[in-house]
Amino acid sequence: MKEPLRITVTGAAGQIGYAMLFRIASGEMLGTDQPVILQLLEIPPAMNALEGVVMELQDCAFPLLRGVVSTSQPEEAFSGADFVLLVGARPRGPGMERKDLLEANGAIFTGQGKAINDYASKNVKVLVVGNPANTNCLIAVNNAKDLNPEQFSSMTILDHNRAIALLAERTGVHIDEVQNLAVWGNHSATMFPELLSASVGDTPALELVTFDWYRDQFIPKVQQRGAEIIRARGSSSAASAANAAIQHMRLWSLGTRTITSMGIVSCGDYDITEGIVYSFPVTCGAGKIEIDKSRSLDDFCVERMRLTERELLEERDAIKHLL
Ligand code: NDP
Repeated sequence: MKEPLRITVTGAAGQIGYAMLFRIASGEMLGTDQPVILQLLEIPPAMNALEGVVMELQDCAFPLLRGVVSTSQPEEAFSGADFVLLVGARPRGPGMERKDLLEANGAIFTGQGKAINDYASKNVKVLVVGNPANTNCLIAVNNAKDLNPEQFSSMTILDHNRAIALLAERTGVHIDEVQNLAVWGNHSATMFPELLSASVGDTPALELVTFDWYRDQFIPKVQQRGAEIIRARGSSSAASAANAAIQHMRLWSLGTRTITSMGIVSCGDYDITEGIVYSFPVTCGAGKIEIDKSRSLDDFCVERMRLTERELLEERDAIKHLL
């Protein structure tokens, strides 16, 4: 049997945490031969709720679950962590501007970046889910001075999955026939789900749908899907977000040659400003995320990619004192 790996989840008593922990403990993230220890971080007011979650984890008697730590101390939660899922974040409150939200989360992700740097495994892989995810990830990376920026990423696989599902529905095919789609930029309403390189079976996607549908319906629908779910459910997506986070970590650690989308620190590929956390089309191999550098993009793509890049640059400017 393999040695257990330590997985830290922050905001573990929240909606996404609740939809995620039981699946991680059952082996869906790292494989059914990989024992795990869960290290759960919450803020003090949520510790009671977290205790309830821990009791439910115990009551599942998962054979792979070799221990559960629940704590409100970051140094304890990140100690020896092999994988970190930063889910907890400050939600936007009444009257709060985007700038206030960035500021409130800035404090959380500065501290967590430093604690990961000081207490986690030197090979840790960190995924940021809590919003604004790209910029929270940027703050965490910049505060983990001894770690490689390649050890950090932010989640856009849910947006990628939403785009695949929408195109498959429109063209009347199964999900697995849609290939090579990409989501670029920020996990926000400026994200750019791109179809120029996508295919459905052996046919280019843009031969099967009209450009008007792509621009006027597909792109806005993917961008607004989170808001659509909030309107229908009365609260934000949780199960699909948890599913995407598990998928992100599984692909990153176990590898995939299928293109997906992840937010990573830009090294200037596709002319995107170096240093910002931007979603690119990627594959994963040997525990590393690799950008698909083979795409030819047209003026429409470049314009959309610049728009979402501009938003990320504005977010970076708002928190530059934290970097
Ligand atoms: P959720 O579990 O529903 O969401 C957690 C975070 O994930 C939010 O920032 C949410 O953004 C974000 N998110 C990212 N992508 C998605 C997506 N596609 N769909 C939905 N959400 C997405 O929030 P809860 O309020 O239920 O739980 C948060 C928990 O975090 C609470 O228990 C709180 O106590 C805790 N917390 C912990 C901290 C810590 O550990 N230090 C710090 C702050 C909070 P959005 O708000 O935009 O939906």
